[in-house]
Parts: sequence; structure tokens; C-alpha cells
Amino acid sequence: MNDYMVAAISGGKDSTAMLLLMLERGMPIDAVIYADTGMDFPEMGAHIEKLDELLYRERGQHIITVQHPKGFEWMVFEEPKVAPSSIEKRLERGIPAYGNGWPGPRMRWCTGHLKTKLVDKAIGQLKGERNAIQYVGIAADEAKRCKDDKHKRYPLVEWGITEEQALQICYDRGFDWDGLYKIYSRCSCWCCPLQRIGELRKLRQYHPDLWRRLLDMDRRAIEMYGDTPLGRFKDNWTVEQLDKRFAAEERQSSLLDKEDDL
Ligand code: SF4
Repeated sequence: MNDYMVAAISGGKDSTAMLLLMLERGMPIDAVIYADTGMDFPEMGAHIEKLDELLYRERGQHIITVQHPKGFEWMVFEEPKVAPSSIEKRLERGIPAYGNGWPGPRMRWCTGHLKTKLVDKAIGQLKGERNAIQYVGIAADEAKRCKDDKHKRYPLVEWGITEEQALQICYDRGFDWDGLYKIYSRCSCWCCPLQRIGELRKLRQYHPDLWRRLLDMDRRAIEMYGDTPLGRFKDNWTVEQLDKRFAAEERQSSLLDKEDDL
């Protein structure tokens, strides 16, 4: 029995380049699964549609989108805790017995709950009796992230394709995310606390509506969880503090521009 071959994509440049090359190279693909966290940039929706059209044209298949039934914000603020020990600890610390708070480097609950588990579950339902192999879009310069797992393959690493080359492969084939990668160096969840401050500065400038949502989410997290890891967006910064910092930087740079004009 043949293996069941699945391309798991995030919609970012690396997994997109992987899928484009797999199609061009005639590699077997039984399913393409996209895990939608619900917090991707709006431009990502159009990108996935365009990829889906190509997949349908080339292989007569559609991208299968998996999504948590309640979504990211429910996980942050509302998921009820059930383990008595966890409830007890939270009550001792004055933290509500629901919600996971902001994900952080030591508690990155989102990747598992909003991506990996959903993709694994879908593969389990689709593969039947067959052995599933998952293609993962990790670029050659990120090879340290690959797992030693006989059920996973990393085509970009096998082909020696770097992140920069992956982006160019997408551009060369007309996939440009409506300019998203001209602004940001990463295009996963816009609300990710693990992204760099420089990316957040650009979010405020180029996606002010999303920035306002982030401000609201952080106010809510602080109100619920206070100064605890669950309520801390970043170790040393709330979103409100970042907002003030970015506004001050803008004022400073417009003053300098005015001086230059004198
Ligand atoms: S991008 Fe950030 S918030 Fe989104 S799933 Fe990954 S770690 Fe979590």
C-alpha cells in the first residue's frame, strides 16, 4: 500500500514554495492541509485562495482548511481549566480558572492547539489504513528545526533551498501576498507575542486596525491575569507601552525631518 502523502502548509513563503515546487516536480500529494489560526493577516486569505486554484488546476484537489472550533481569542481568554491542581494553583494566585493567557517562549500552547493537533487529527481521518508521511516547509537555513521523525519529510532542506530563495520562488510564480513580505519578515499570526518589536512597529503603521485589536486584547489580558506570565504580552512591554514608544519615535523622526527642511 502506498504511503499517504500530505503537504502541511501555513501559507507562508517556505511552505508555499515547497508546495509550488512539489507540484512542478510531479511529486505525489494526497492532501494539502492549511491550519488557519484565525489570526493570519487578511492578505493570507486571498493567497490561500490563489494557491487553492492552482492546486485544483494542477491536481483536481482543494486545500483542506482546519481551524479550532472556538479560535485563538477563546483559547487566550475563555477555555475552562478542568484539572483540579491547575484550578487550585490559579485560585491561589488570584488568576481566573479559564483562558491560557498570552503564549510565551515557555508556554507556546498555540502552535499545538491551533495547528499541529488539528493537522494530525485531519491526517488521521483522511489516511485510512495507509501510512501517512507529512511534508513540512522548513527552509535549508532553518534545518535545525527539523525533527528526526520517519513520518516527516523536509523537501526544501533536501533541495538546499533557503528562506530567501523560497520567497523568490513564490514571487517568480506570481505569489506575492499583496506585498506582505515587502513589509514584514514573517507573515504568521499578526498578534504573536513572540514576534520582534520591529515587526510590531510595522503592524502599528501598516495595519492600524489590527494594532487597535491587539491593544484591546492586551488590555483584557492585563485585566484578567495581571502582571503574570499569562498577562504579559512581552517580558518588558505591554502593547500600550509599545504604542507610546512607537508614537514618540514617530514624533521624533518627524521633528528631525522638519529640521532637515529648514
Ligand atoms: S505565530 Fe505566534 S501566536 Fe501564532 S501559532 Fe505561532 S507562536 Fe502562536
